[in-house]
Amino acid sequence: MSAREHDLHEIREAVAKLCASFPMEYWRETDRERRYPTEFVTALTRAGWLSCLIPEEYGGSGLTLAAAAAVLEEIQKSGANGAACHAQMYTMGTVLRHCSEAQKKKYLPKIAKGELRLQAFGVTEPSAGTDTSSIRTTAVRKGDRYVINGQKVWTSRAEHSDLMLLLARTTPREQVQKKTDGMSVFIVDMKAALGKGLAIRPIRTMINHATTEVFLEDLEIPAENLVGEEGQGFRYIIDGMNAERILIGAECIGDARWFVAKATAYANERKVFGRPIGQNQGVQFPIARAHMAAEAAALMVERAAGLYDSGKPCGPEANMAKQLAAEASWQAGDMCLQTHGGFGFAEEYDIERKFRETRLYQIAPISTNLVLCYLAEHVLHLPRSY
Ligand SMILES: Cc1cc2nc3c(=O)[nH]c(=O)nc-3n(C[C@H](O)[C@H](O)[C@H](O)COP(=O)(O)OP(=O)(O)OC[C@H]3O[C@@H](n4cnc5c(N)ncnc54)[C@H](O)[C@@H]3O)c2cc1C
Repeated sequence: MSAREHDLHEIREAVAKLCASFPMEYWRETDRERRYPTEFVTALTRAGWLSCLIPEEYGGSGLTLAAAAAVLEEIQKSGANGAACHAQMYTMGTVLRHCSEAQKKKYLPKIAKGELRLQAFGVTEPSAGTDTSSIRTTAVRKGDRYVINGQKVWTSRAEHSDLMLLLARTTPREQVQKKTDGMSVFIVDMKAALGKGLAIRPIRTMINHATTEVFLEDLEIPAENLVGEEGQGFRYIIDGMNAERILIGAECIGDARWFVAKATAYANERKVFGRPIGQNQGVQFPIARAHMAAEAAALMVERAAGLYDSGKPCGPEANMAKQLAAEASWQAGDMCLQTHGGFGFAEEYDIERKFRETRLYQIAPISTNLVLCYLAEHVLHLPRSY
């Protein structure tokens, strides 16, 4: 085992141990009640896992994205739902690379200590959808403040976060050369803004994801909360998005491995026609296929994380990692449900919950079609289709 593998192995063991103290009944109950798993998020924060990407000088453990990916994969592999907290890791892609020293000193030590949560990422808007450059939320500079107006949708965990990274237009689309220019990223102190220009409305969904709509009306924030340079926000968000895709890919690998393990155990134990169902090739081949797809996708996640950690461009790999892993987890979820026959539908087997949860990653943070569009255009140099 290499030193790197050894470190990741230790991380996985520690995370698995923490997750084991949250039994499946905890996840069933939070899912049933659509309740935020505060206890789990607090335990992860106290153990330092949610600040693992924050450099040591700001109170974190300064681990690599590969290590953060191992943490999230292990969470999912335990049967838990890590969506409650993954944003604190992927927002670091933007924060660590583009926030000023003063901003890092102000926020990162508190995030590392668990005094502040940075769990909200406000990009998607109802009318823009995947076409991020069409966002309508505006931020207008007025002296030492920005005044923000607009609406975001699917801003997950907004009710459980102190801070939000927000993307807004600072120059109208028709006044910029490239449509991705003229957008800026801001750190919004949501607790201070709530009721003073910021309103949050939860959206009930098929999964327990604490997602919301966010309304911004003449919200004033200090100009010092601008991240990096005005107008360059799309580029900064992309850095966060690559990290996000890799981390979500890792979560999908964890899901896929959970489904494969669960199906294998059941196929060995369940006897029909006087023998284990797993003795039938019609049952074992889909499990073997799902395993193979997950392990192949895991290699791409690893490769993308390695490129990201060495500061190299990783757009194609991050997109491929997310897509291959999301397809593998969905394939494994479908296989696991089929392997369990009718029992797969019963809440107490946890499969139906994980099946619903892992389905999200065909759509968020970017839908499968758009990953294909990206690869077709930017890697294969086919004509842009949209
Ligand atoms: C539970 C949940 C949590 C989320 N959390 C967050 C969050 O925290 N922060 C945030 O900013 N966003 C979040 N999102 C938003 C998510 O990133 C978007 O839903 C996703 O990017 C797709 O955008 P859309 O829903 O507007 O779909 P649309 O852009 O309207 O697309 C609809 C469908 O059309 C397809 N499509 C669109 N254009 C094309 C094209 N040119 N070619 C081929 N197919 C096309 C898409 O692939 C998709 O299948 C979340 C979404 C969900 C459901």
